[in-house]
Amino acid sequence: MLARVPIFRTTARTLIVGACAPYVARISLVDKIEFSSADLDETVRLFQELIRIDTTNPPGNEGRAAEYLKARFDSNGIDCDVLGEPSRENVITKIRGQKQRPRLLFESHTDVVPAVGVGVWNHPPFSAEIEDEWIYGRGAWDDKFDVAVQAMSLILLKRRNVKLCGTLLYAAVADEEGSGSGAAWLTKKVPDKVAAEYVVGEGGAPPTQVGGQKIYWITTGEKGLAWLKLTAKGKAGHGSVPTLANNANLMMAKAFINLSNLKTKVTITDEVARAIRIVAIAFLGENEGSEIINSQLNELGIDKILDRIASNDKELAEELRALTRMTISPNVIVGGTETNVIPGTCEGKVDIRLMPDQNRDCATKAVIECIRGLDIDLGVIDYTEASLSPSNTDFYDAIETITEELAPACSALPRLSTGMSDSRFLESSWIDRLWVRADVAGHYVG
Ligand SMILES: [Zn+2]
Repeated sequence: MLARVPIFRTTARTLIVGACAPYVARISLVDKIEFSSADLDETVRLFQELIRIDTTNPPGNEGRAAEYLKARFDSNGIDCDVLGEPSRENVITKIRGQKQRPRLLFESHTDVVPAVGVGVWNHPPFSAEIEDEWIYGRGAWDDKFDVAVQAMSLILLKRRNVKLCGTLLYAAVADEEGSGSGAAWLTKKVPDKVAAEYVVGEGGAPPTQVGGQKIYWITTGEKGLAWLKLTAKGKAGHGSVPTLANNANLMMAKAFINLSNLKTKVTITDEVARAIRIVAIAFLGENEGSEIINSQLNELGIDKILDRIASNDKELAEELRALTRMTISPNVIVGGTETNVIPGTCEGKVDIRLMPDQNRDCATKAVIECIRGLDIDLGVIDYTEASLSPSNTDFYDAIETITEELAPACSALPRLSTGMSDSRFLESSWIDRLWVRADVAGHYVG
């Protein structure tokens, strides 16, 4: 996991300009927002101070980060609310535009995962030390960078008295690394304060070098998740006479092999097709890349394309492969106690990630196919459906255009994420509520 981020001079400016573009004439905003070295220093200081607030989750204690941010907003004349469960509060605020709508939400999270193995860190995890233009610390990447840059965006817009057309909202929430209780609390208890047509949240990914080209990923969707539990029911016995028993571990092993061999349906979304096309041409050249795409970018041929990409960049190819289908990863087997005892029961856990057009039933159907003929019960541990926002919107176009403008010779591409963030609360809560389109555009700008 990354625990450092580069100090890029363009970062805050990119975010401000990109995110606000639909709300203010872009050219005039670029003229208005000059990101000076003093602004950079202030952003870095705010970022460092946030890292130094230990918000390791569990237990979180994100309320301390919320109070810190409140003080910064207060001192810049921006009213804000600190709301949520005791000691796990979220901070929310806004800058009113000339019209109430559309609304754009900057969303980030203040909690961090535990800093395991503290003794081996070259830079103590909560020191926020700077070395060679990098800031080191737990949560530097995920997600205090966003908390700080988005907060500074509001502060600078307020200070420069920039007139926005719509309203810019800000929410730095607790517990994203846990159950998402911070975002869940806000969307349930005070939905009107955070509901927005557009959201810039965490997500995105580090830029990828593909051949001679650098690609910035703009996350517009996340795969769904189904965690399933299997319970194999055999017959216990003594290890000295195995044929008298029915070994539950062996039953589970068969199920796991079936699960890992299962070929799931291929779905090629527009976003993934676009990415594969660009990556294939970058690696294979215009002629060969175009030919292979035109003849094989379909359900039957896609693995051949991905295998070719894998010979250049295995990691990228497998990420793209995972974005074209449901993935099934059987990960936990618990069974047996003694060397001479045949286990009568065995428990297994399976991590399934779903495509945007798939639901819980698709996951259970796939598993049922793999346990047919085996005495295994199936249960659901957790389920979250996938989310996908359109990438054919003015808002998306603005972010893509400006990313390419500020990083010449780079491409920006929409991306489906194999992971999951708080956007699951934002979309499911708000699309139905507002009957409007919501963009969840993750970003990595710099
Ligand atoms: Zn995160």
